[in-house]
Amino acid sequence: MIFDTHAHYTSHQFDRHRDELLSSLPQNGVVGIVDCGVDLESAVKSLELSEKYPFLYVAAGIHPESITDETASTNTRFGGDWRAELVEIEPLYENKRVVAVGEAGLDYHWEIPKDEQQALFEAEIKTALTHDLPIIVHDREAHADTYALLKKYKPKGVVHCYSGSADDAIWLTKQGLYIGIGGVVTFKNSRRLQETVSALPLERILLETDCPYMAPEPFRGKENNSALIKYVAAKIAEIKGVTISDVLDITEENAKTAFNLA
Ligand SMILES: [Zn+2]
Repeated sequence: MIFDTHAHYTSHQFDRHRDELLSSLPQNGVVGIVDCGVDLESAVKSLELSEKYPFLYVAAGIHPESITDETASTNTRFGGDWRAELVEIEPLYENKRVVAVGEAGLDYHWEIPKDEQQALFEAEIKTALTHDLPIIVHDREAHADTYALLKKYKPKGVVHCYSGSADDAIWLTKQGLYIGIGGVVTFKNSRRLQETVSALPLERILLETDCPYMAPEPFRGKENNSALIKYVAAKIAEIKGVTISDVLDITEENAKTAFNLA
């Protein structure tokens, strides 16, 4: 069965059909979703969804892009003071539906002050350690600095939408982290990621959508959703020479272990 460890169902792109879509997922093989907040407001909305859809769990945290995103509560409500926002997010970790800290990390693709990003990421890693929760890590074009903080604090969790080398992936899993694999692995130009999947034991892989983004082939560029993970599983099955249900079953177990849902 499908466990999607990284989704954004509070995204406005789902406004016109969110309930219809979420209601349809169980009959399409989806048994679990971790919906990732990117700021306080989206985490609270995500919690509302989790009350309605028992298969949906929540990650609460501040995404590095929220530092500059004009529509994020980091700016609309907290005037850019992410420290104040983290204080308001803090009580959410007492809620049993909140299973991770995130989405957190470093994004050097966009013009976001690096020192602020690093301070925010470090604070969120400490939050994860304090609450003994896994952290969902976003690393875009920031491998060295991301790995340095992961090495320093050794949090549990997952490096989502993994884009590093196979060797680094092995190193991260030896630190106890999982590697998040999504639609990119089905793309024609993703040989490096396919090599990473080939090198990793299935026991360290988590499947994810990052929906509404990152739809797998043959839906590349279209709106993504958790049911489409079967195309990601099919590609991984092909790479590893196992069945699609092997991939789905093992990664479902991995997700339950990673987010303490067993
Ligand atoms: Zn995400």
